Amino acid sequence: MKPPRFRYLRAGSVDGAVQALADNPDARILAGGQSLIAMMNLRLVRPACLIDINRVPDLGYIREEGDGVAIGALARHNEVKHSELVRARCPLLTEAYESIAHHTVRNRGTLGGNLCHADPSSETPAVMIAVGATLVLQSVGGTRAVGAEDFFLGTYETAARQDEMLVEIRLPGRGADGWAFAEISNRHGDFAIAVIATTLSLENGRCAAARVVASGVGEHAARLVPAEQALVGGPVDETRLDAAAAAAAGAVDPHSDSHADAAYRRDAVAALTRRTVRRAAERCG
Ligand SMILES: Cc1cc2nc3c(=O)[nH]c(=O)nc-3n(C[C@H](O)[C@H](O)[C@H](O)COP(=O)(O)OP(=O)(O)OC[C@H]3O[C@@H](n4cnc5c(N)ncnc54)[C@H](O)[C@@H]3O)c2cc1C
Repeated sequence: MKPPRFRYLRAGSVDGAVQALADNPDARILAGGQSLIAMMNLRLVRPACLIDINRVPDLGYIREEGDGVAIGALARHNEVKHSELVRARCPLLTEAYESIAHHTVRNRGTLGGNLCHADPSSETPAVMIAVGATLVLQSVGGTRAVGAEDFFLGTYETAARQDEMLVEIRLPGRGADGWAFAEISNRHGDFAIAVIATTLSLENGRCAAARVVASGVGEHAARLVPAEQALVGGPVDETRLDAAAAAAAGAVDPHSDSHADAAYRRDAVAALTRRTVRRAAERCG
């Protein structure tokens, strides 16, 4: 299958790319093409113009930023997956990458493109929300930073305007003491049926802060606040694990499809919440 006709522009700089976005209101950025080209082939999107950013120099960096990590828009999945800096400062993302796509897709696809694509079953949005990442968007008017929690608005829908390009992903330094990621999918590397990404801090044996974030069970990744509230203030014991799992299941309104029905997805959310919270608490030690 071939995509519909489109105009092709190759950007040589970020400024050039955002100018081209401003000049072409029906344009889209082309990064790894792993999602965009498939969507075009299936006629799910029909951009009149693609702005290829693959030749923009110095946009694939992964570097220290304070005690956190800054990742450029062109960093490929596999570069992020195997980055020792990311492993040291955001191990939740490294753990999630064990479940994301296949080697060939990760060689070409970018973390930035993945986030902008905003697939409701993608793992990375849940991780970004769990760690409190910030996404930096640039247009001809300047740059702005959007918290991950405010970035994902719906299925394939983000807070980025048509004339904005995601230029950087900022991961904060290790805030929470413990973390864990778990997902259920049909086959290894497939999009998720259900995902939970959890971060947790303990103080004197009691849960001081928690983020429990789900993906695959709604229109976009989102915190399960009732599950977090069930954890904070006490020890992470069997009673609180039960309460958090039940609260997580009650906080989602999943869909049914050919991969799993809504009841299965809700059960999966409970099981994955229990598993990730327990693991995150163990890691706090
Ligand atoms: C077989 C297969 C299995 C996969 N499995 C998984 C999986 O398990 N989990 C998962 O999360 N993903 C999975 N994916 C998707 C994969 O992660 C893609 O790489 C990713 O979704 C898109 O990244 P990309 O760089 O290829 O972006 P592209 O396909 O080039 O772009 C995707 C969208 O983002 C926009 N965009 C890209 N970069 C920017 C930018 N810098 N600023 C603004 N907009 C931008 C584009 O305009 C487009 O709308 C899979 C893909 C395939 C083909």
